[in-house]
This record gives sequence, structure tokens and C-alpha cells, in this order.
Amino acid sequence: MVTYAINYFTKYYQWKGAHKTELKNLNNMNYWRSLKNEEERNLPSHPNRSPNHIPTRILNIREDLILTHLTYLFGEEEWKKNRYSNDLNCRSCGVNMQDLSDYLSQIIKTFDTLFNWRNDKEKDFQPALNKALDLWDQDYPELVKEKARLNLPRYGSRTLLTHKYGWCPVCWEDIIMPQLGWDDRLE
Ligand SMILES: [Zn+2]
Repeated sequence: MVTYAINYFTKYYQWKGAHKTELKNLNNMNYWRSLKNEEERNLPSHPNRSPNHIPTRILNIREDLILTHLTYLFGEEEWKKNRYSNDLNCRSCGVNMQDLSDYLSQIIKTFDTLFNWRNDKEKDFQPALNKALDLWDQDYPELVKEKARLNLPRYGSRTLLTHKYGWCPVCWEDIIMPQLGWDDRLE
């Protein structure tokens, strides 16, 4: 067991050392953008591609790094399973992703009856959202309401609800993301 653990940590730290730059820049999208090759930099402009576009080839490198890191931390290798299904409970808090999705669609439907995107002003956005939240407040458990906070409608943008490798968006952001990437204690 002890040997196993030592081998595990040796492998893990060797892997980290070998990917130091990428891990340090895991969430620095400018770094990933800078990896574009000549051909990718010179792509003709396209209506569906912003100048900030990062090619799938590069995003896949970043994703593989995340998947390897998750495997070191949590010891599973089936991270891509059920990637787009909401039929699961968050690995950390246990919130059911389908409940989260139902709650958010009720909020959005109600919100759209209270706020007119074409005519209403930005200052009216939050009061309308609060009203929608109040109207559904009794119908969902606290856990669902709490874990929905990153996916509520925002002025100017809407985010799509998907779990991240089995974690709800809030647990991913608060618990998992801080564990990924470079660890300054290794300096
Ligand atoms: Zn969660």
C-alpha cells in the first residue's frame, strides 16, 4: 500500500512537472490562443468565428489535461461518459441535474413573462428576476436553488446548464476548479 502510494505520487508529480506551463496557464485562455499554428492564425474570417476563437485541436489538448488531472485526483477514467446527459446526481453535493434543469427552465419561462428583452431597461432586469425567483421559491428544495445560481439568466447573456464531468456547475467552480492546474506549493 505504501509503495503503491509512493509510486502514485511520484507519477503524479512527474506528470505535473512535465506539464508545468500548461497547468499554470490552465485558465489563461490567452495562453491557449497563443498556441495557434500558422494555418490556424491565418484562417479567413467567418461569421461564426470570432477573432478570439480557439480551435478544437487546442481545446482538446486543454481538456485532456483536465481529464488526466481529474483521474489523478479522483481515480476514474470514464469522465466523458454521460457528458451531455442530465440523468445524474452531482458527485459532490448530490443535487439531481434534471431537477436543476427543471427549476431553471421554470425560472426562465416565468422571467420571460415579466421582462421584455426588447423594451425593458437594464435596471428592470434584477427586479423581474427576483420576482421569478420568489414565485418558484416554495416549489424547490434549497439545494436546487443554491446550485442553480451560476446558471440564472443574466442581462446580456444566458448560460447553458450542463454538468462538468459529473459535478454541478457550482461544485465544479467552488470545489473542483481550485484543485486543477498548477499548485504553487510545488515551486
Ligand atoms: Zn454539486
